[in-house]
Amino acid sequence: MTKVRVRYAPSPTGHLHIGNARTALFNYLFAKHYHGDFILRIEDTDLERNVAGGEESQMKYLNWLGITPDESPTNPNPKYAPYRQMERLDLYQKYAQELIDAGHAYKCYCSEEELEADYEAQKAQGVVATQYNRKCLLHRSKEELAQLDANNIPFTIRVRVPEQETYVFEDMIRGEVSFESKDIGDWVLIKANGIPTYNFAVVIDDHTMEITHVFRGEEHLSNTPKQMMIYRMLNWDTPKFGHMTLIVNEQRKKLSKRDNSILQFMSQYEELGYLPHAMFNFMSLLGWSPVGEEEIFTHQELIEQFSEERLSKSPSMFDPVKLKWINNRYIKALSFEEFKALTLPFLNKAYDLSTKSETWVDTLLHLFQEQCSYGQEIVTLTSMFFEEGVTLENDEAESMFALDSTQVVAHTFAAHRPEVWNVDTIKETINKVKEVSGFKGKPLFMGLRVVASGKVHGPDLASTLYLLGEERVISACLAR
Ligand code: GLU
Repeated sequence: MTKVRVRYAPSPTGHLHIGNARTALFNYLFAKHYHGDFILRIEDTDLERNVAGGEESQMKYLNWLGITPDESPTNPNPKYAPYRQMERLDLYQKYAQELIDAGHAYKCYCSEEELEADYEAQKAQGVVATQYNRKCLLHRSKEELAQLDANNIPFTIRVRVPEQETYVFEDMIRGEVSFESKDIGDWVLIKANGIPTYNFAVVIDDHTMEITHVFRGEEHLSNTPKQMMIYRMLNWDTPKFGHMTLIVNEQRKKLSKRDNSILQFMSQYEELGYLPHAMFNFMSLLGWSPVGEEEIFTHQELIEQFSEERLSKSPSMFDPVKLKWINNRYIKALSFEEFKALTLPFLNKAYDLSTKSETWVDTLLHLFQEQCSYGQEIVTLTSMFFEEGVTLENDEAESMFALDSTQVVAHTFAAHRPEVWNVDTIKETINKVKEVSGFKGKPLFMGLRVVASGKVHGPDLASTLYLLGEERVISACLAR
């Protein structure tokens, strides 16, 4: 069997978007499942849309996710290099010339203005899908063309779309798809500035880089017949295509880059302290489903289980709650040191920790690892430990606070305050309060908690009291 070679071919127009990241991921999983190669190719021919640092950012976030290319601009295989389209311009010219020589393509000297005027005229006659009128193919004499050439009039190279051809292919996700050549006008292979269009360059690259399978977004489905006609004209085999369905939001609308309700760039997730393994896992479920009920997988498990047959035909919903749930699963599995490394920078940024001991910080972080869904969340989870004073949070807290038993446990606690303030001594004191006051369970625990923190629920009581600090707890107890 030929070795599987797939590619992820972003245009360097910005940071790695969730849609692109998923495309990269499925290509990667497919490649690794079949012991093939995953290639990164940069499609930088749309000069106006390229942004500085776009390529580096793509690389950086692919690496962050653990989707490491076997070949890329920075790790080229000489057999297939270069990996940036703008460095492959000669190759596109060469094949465009071959197509001209074979009568499959021709030079078009029509100016933008002429083309525009003609499309307008077609529209005025009720044509919806306007096509090039083939002036340079059919209605200019040899002499006229030679004259235009001699005068160095800029030209594009257009493909001569065959008549009455059908392009049928078995999409790996959608099954059979078919297009008719009559619906496609003579499109441009090479623009007047010598740069190829996407549909042309992609064929030359996929063939010369020996790409065997192409997984890409469904927006490219209608480009496929254009690409197939070039493969046919050059007598090349087509790779197998698979067009992945859209990612939609909870309102079932296509994710738009302007939609602020869902964070869409890997950089944003990194900044918030999401874990790359969790993102990898989450994205693998966006349009692919495993066999059983389990949803948490290591990279290796995903590589083993991945099957193109289980890619979904219907849109996949981006569920931010599920992402948090998955990320929380990964956070819970971190060692405490890893959790600390993830969250401490967020705490340091939000609060002044200079007066806090290491034990205090560690106790705080230990208390929230189970609950924390992403790094930055530690700031809101822990906010009560950085606030001054006590505010009763709701009616339940107020009634609890008002009970006589609450006053008794609070005063008893103050009377038996530990000599040294730490979690163990506080636990002992709570036991002492139980013994002396006779209160236990809710009146004891909730009573102490509400007096010290204003809340009726929360993490482990002794640790909470420890973190709130001796001064604050004792004065609150005495004031009740
Ligand atoms: N550069 C194209 C894109 O970013 C790649 C399309 C393809 O995979 O063929 O959408």
